Amino acid sequence: MAQKGNVAIVGRPNVGKSTLFNRIIKNRLSIVEDTPGVTRDRIYAFSEWLTREFLIIDTGGITLNNTAMFAQKIKMQAEIAIEEADIIIFVLSYKEGIAPDDEMIAKILYQTKKPVILVINKYDKQEKESELYEYMTLGFGEPIAVSASHGIGMGDLLDQVISYLDQIPVQSKTEGIHFSLIGKPNVGKSSLTNAILGEERVIVSPIAGTTTDSIDTVFKRNTQIYTVIDTAGIRRKGKIYEKLEKYSVIRTVSSIERSDLVLLIIDGKIPITDQDTNIAGIAFEQNKPIILVVNKWDAVTEKDDQSMQKIEKSIRGYFKYLNYAKMVFVSALEKKRLHLLFQTIDEVYDRLTQRVKTSVLNEILVKAQLLNPSPDFNGGRLKIYYATQPDSMIPTFIMFCNNPKYIHFSYKRFLENQIREYFAFDGVPMKILFRERK
Ligand code: GDP
Ligand code: GDP
Repeated sequence: MAQKGNVAIVGRPNVGKSTLFNRIIKNRLSIVEDTPGVTRDRIYAFSEWLTREFLIIDTGGITLNNTAMFAQKIKMQAEIAIEEADIIIFVLSYKEGIAPDDEMIAKILYQTKKPVILVINKYDKQEKESELYEYMTLGFGEPIAVSASHGIGMGDLLDQVISYLDQIPVQSKTEGIHFSLIGKPNVGKSSLTNAILGEERVIVSPIAGTTTDSIDTVFKRNTQIYTVIDTAGIRRKGKIYEKLEKYSVIRTVSSIERSDLVLLIIDGKIPITDQDTNIAGIAFEQNKPIILVVNKWDAVTEKDDQSMQKIEKSIRGYFKYLNYAKMVFVSALEKKRLHLLFQTIDEVYDRLTQRVKTSVLNEILVKAQLLNPSPDFNGGRLKIYYATQPDSMIPTFIMFCNNPKYIHFSYKRFLENQIREYFAFDGVPMKILFRERK
């Protein structure tokens, strides 16, 4: 798993945080916009600079209810930045100089040992450098002057971000299968985590995760070692911020990042809502295999031998983009069917790490094309010469062909299905890429 790191933007309203955020993620926006359910009011995104990836968070988008005092909101955002980020970008406005609210934020940021990068935004014209010295009095070193709206100074800022990211010690990944439980409130994430850990031998409990509050627990079941990543501190509830939806989204993103696979917990006795599908969208966007776990199976009354299929069909209607995903029915309360859950986790992990033989892969593709040649599309007929499976987080296949322009999506799906069927890639997402052969 690649070490990514979290970068949070803080600052009082109107200094240009969201403009800066959008500027930083600009190159990636097209990818972001394609994802179901998660684009509205986006406050986080994975971004990249010089091949280094990081998660950028606009804390300005995390708000308390409207009755909260202005100062309280700013304070909360700064505290969340300290908790969730590895690096903090503290934004001020050149036009307005140092305001009392800036000083208030500075005081909160003095409490952290994490690197703080001082950014003076709205420095649209390269004015007298000497004027920037005033900001040194804040005690965060030399500021970086930028103009987020004009895209000036971004290289310097991102270079600085990367240099701090490179100093974060890389946590070596522990052995075994890493998974997290995600889902909307009250679906039974804590209950299920406790049911799982109550049954199994906990090896090291708990070890501190990368973020201050996340607690990972390593345990062994039969001979397999697992790490359950405690999303949003689900086993120690009650902190005020955790009730904020956007805050828990950030938590969820970080937990998913450290997972090999993700359990999306669904309450089997109530209908699916947008909140379920939005949370699934987060894991989907991060390219992690998802297992749909329908909890509270005990509470589903009037069960007959058709109910499971019926419920499965109705739930799948909401998660069309997860058609590969396995579904398991459990009861955390009665600790029932947990063995099926683990069986599924093991299978999915096994498929995830499966590597196919290149020679067999190519045989399959030759046969597939003989059996069902590609249709003419975009002025030509696709011809695949050979394919390989590179190392990747999820099964990925690169098809070298005459011209990627000729691929019709239905033919791509056909090829995917051929590979899935032949090599039994059940329960995992798959990526098929086309490259023109030189
Ligand atoms: P936030 O409340 O901190 O997220 O601030 P916004 O990103 O919403 O920006 C507040 C205002 O400042 C908007 O009208 C922006 O267009 C403007 N703004 C942002 N960056 C710059 C900049 O670099 N130069 C100038 N002149 N205006 C900017
Ligand atoms: P979380 O917010 O997703 O962590 O959900 P909790 O684990 O706190 O559970 C929310 C509520 O659902 C609690 O009242 C639990 O007792 C109840 N609950 C959790 N799992 C089950 C289950 O399998 N069956 C039933 N009937 N209730 C459950």
